[in-house]
Amino acid sequence: MSRIPRIVILGAGYGGIVTAIRLQKELNYNEADVTLVNKHDYHYITTHLHMPAAGTDNPENARVNILKLIDEFKIDFVKSTVVQIRPQEKKVILEEGTLSYDYLVVGLGGEPETFGIPGLKEYALSIRSINSVRFIREHIEYQFARFKREPNRLDYLTFIVGGAGFTGIEFIGEITDRIPKLCKEYDVDPSLVKVYNVEAAPTALPGFDPELVEYAMNVLQNKGVTFKIATAIKECTPDGVILATGEEIKAATVVWTGGIRGNHMLDDAGFETMRGRIKVDENLRAPGHDNVYVLGDCSLVFSPEGRPYPPTAQISIQQADICAHNLVASIRGEQLKSFTYESKGTVASLGRGEAIGIVGSRKVKGGMAAIMKKVIDMRYLYIIGGIPLVLKKGRF
Ligand SMILES: Cc1cc2nc3c(=O)[nH]c(=O)nc-3n(C[C@H](O)[C@H](O)[C@H](O)COP(=O)(O)OP(=O)(O)OC[C@H]3O[C@@H](n4cnc5c(N)ncnc54)[C@H](O)[C@@H]3O)c2cc1C
Repeated sequence: MSRIPRIVILGAGYGGIVTAIRLQKELNYNEADVTLVNKHDYHYITTHLHMPAAGTDNPENARVNILKLIDEFKIDFVKSTVVQIRPQEKKVILEEGTLSYDYLVVGLGGEPETFGIPGLKEYALSIRSINSVRFIREHIEYQFARFKREPNRLDYLTFIVGGAGFTGIEFIGEITDRIPKLCKEYDVDPSLVKVYNVEAAPTALPGFDPELVEYAMNVLQNKGVTFKIATAIKECTPDGVILATGEEIKAATVVWTGGIRGNHMLDDAGFETMRGRIKVDENLRAPGHDNVYVLGDCSLVFSPEGRPYPPTAQISIQQADICAHNLVASIRGEQLKSFTYESKGTVASLGRGEAIGIVGSRKVKGGMAAIMKKVIDMRYLYIIGGIPLVLKKGRF
């Protein structure tokens, strides 16, 4: 190992940026060289992306310049795309060069999991980044413009969301807020617009409290959503979807939110993965690689009951705290900490002024839950950027 250990953090999402922020606070001068690599020069607040995707918020509000969050005297920021991880050589290959490391933190986020369903990769859109949500927003609006030129094409006004998990439900909450405005703007009869939510599992929001799920479905049905629960998508085509029941829904817009897998580079690097995610040890390291920490959607952590925790921003942030501690401890030859996930609750937005959630052991719904959602979002902004960021990017 070189005299000053080199820490390379891949990805400035929830896991990566919080690790960098913690390290810049905890490391002493010349204790380590820390480099943060990210595709873009901004961090995006993934948990807000359903809003700009539907067009109910500006994508600008969901991103923050990375140099405003880190101290450049303590962290080197490299704007580049990682193309390969070579754990045996302790190197990462970037589009523009190579970085060597002593410690690696992988926080590259997830990729859509299509479960091998034909056509999803090719024809469905997914909510993953600022660029993807800009595209979805423009695409949705364009369908209204197209319909005005070809009024027999009702498929332009048909929107299918695949997956009724967190992301799917939050996106539907927003798109159903946006549609009435688009109908007004483009003089379209709202009764012509159809929004379907198709979910293969026996319930929407699997794992959520059934009473809250029912509440959420009622809210969204009242906003015009047709649910097709316990119904798998068999194929996505250029014309829409074919369901396992044989029914075909013609739609010019299919947004797939049905699953997340880890980054494909982890498989390519030879790590042992489950759906692209590495089952990390109690210290958040990749098994057999004591110098590689894996966070967020790239990692897999099991509950004491043996069930995998769903990938969330909340778990990524908590992992980042432990990862930063363990990196500092490794460098100083101190004891590592084990990671234990502590759920602070979950709130899913259903559009403007409506949400459902569990906070502590309390169920919340409606306006109160929507306020909780804003508080959670603002807490995160506070963690990464203090009061100035809350004031600049907070959605009050
Ligand atoms: C619409 C939506 C709503 C959500 N709502 C919630 C919620 O309310 N609560 C909750 O807890 N979770 C929510 N989630 C889940 C949560 O956003 C993710 O679990 C979380 O973002 C994972 O964090 P991460 O650090 O693993 O990666 P990410 O936050 O995804 O960040 C990955 C980073 O890596 C960068 N990157 C990727 N590939 C490369 C590469 N090759 N080279 C360089 N950089 C790269 C990306 O640009 C990005 O900056 C939501 C997700 C979505 C999509």
